[in-house]
Amino acid sequence: MGLFSRFVSKIRGESTAASLDWDELESELLSADLGPILSQSLIAEGKKIKGDDAEESLREILLGKLSSHNRALAQSGVILVVGVNGVGKTTSVAKLAQFIKNRGDSLVLGAADTFRAAAVDQLTTWGSRVGVEVIMGKPQSEPASVAFDTAKAGAASGSRYVVIDTAGRLHNKSDLMAELEKIKRVVEKVTPVTEVLLVIDGTTGQNGISQAKLFSEAVSVTGLIVTKLDGSARGGVALAIEDLLGLPIKFVGTGEKIEDFAPFDAQLYIDGLLA
Ligand code: GDP
Ligand code: GDP
Ligand code: MG
Repeated sequence: MGLFSRFVSKIRGESTAASLDWDELESELLSADLGPILSQSLIAEGKKIKGDDAEESLREILLGKLSSHNRALAQSGVILVVGVNGVGKTTSVAKLAQFIKNRGDSLVLGAADTFRAAAVDQLTTWGSRVGVEVIMGKPQSEPASVAFDTAKAGAASGSRYVVIDTAGRLHNKSDLMAELEKIKRVVEKVTPVTEVLLVIDGTTGQNGISQAKLFSEAVSVTGLIVTKLDGSARGGVALAIEDLLGLPIKFVGTGEKIEDFAPFDAQLYIDGLLA
């Protein structure tokens, strides 16, 4: 069921939204994790809806909110994939590798989650499935050192992209965030970091906002990958992040398989919300 389903069922065929139950809509938006600021701004605009078709007007309001961002992936360079534990970073790195490969571009992957041996195995397994080289360090090697080696390998092979998987970290642990800054700094000795993609679990509530704020402060996030949109979650928090921090949703993950991944399409997303 779409985010706005109850709202839409009310306004369908209505020529004005003037008589709607705004409190009910507000609680619907809040329960969908859009957060108070975005919810109130949508309601303020919704209250202005006049004209023949309130549903169409709502579609336009949402599209207006979502259409002002550049969602294109950088043309080349190093892509760091970051986020808290278990959100789908490693899976998204593999999916992104397939996406880049399908475009005909070259890349190298870096397994800079050296914290767990299983994380390196997970990425190398994906790497061989996708057919992309994965650079890894010796056990317990420093993540920055693996990232550095990966950037070097990418430069040596003339690859267009280098995509680096990182360990999950709590956004409020400053030593872990400093480690991420170091990874970025060290990589940039070799090749510019052109994307820092923050992976947000679509089922996460408002905590996603503080994740985005603190990761952005540490490593200047350039965009979001919103995962796990295959369940009932519509990823409302990502809309709140986009609105609040101006971070574009660049990709969405819709399952555990490599093909369950696509560039964010505002039109399709809104169709889902209004369904
Ligand atoms: P990481 O700890 O952030 O690297 O997360 P992983 O990539 O290891 O993924 C954690 C779990 O989430 C795994 O079981 C993945 O298969 C699963 N996962 C990742 N992305 C998605 C998605 O888009 N949809 C679903 N349903 N599961 C996902
Ligand atoms: P520091 O440990 O905070 O001084 O951070 P550094 O900038 O020295 O880099 C951290 C890690 O990245 C080092 O342990 C190295 O493994 C790797 N690294 C950084 N710069 C270089 C470099 O120029 N050459 C090589 N081989 N490794 C580097
Ligand atoms: Mg991982």
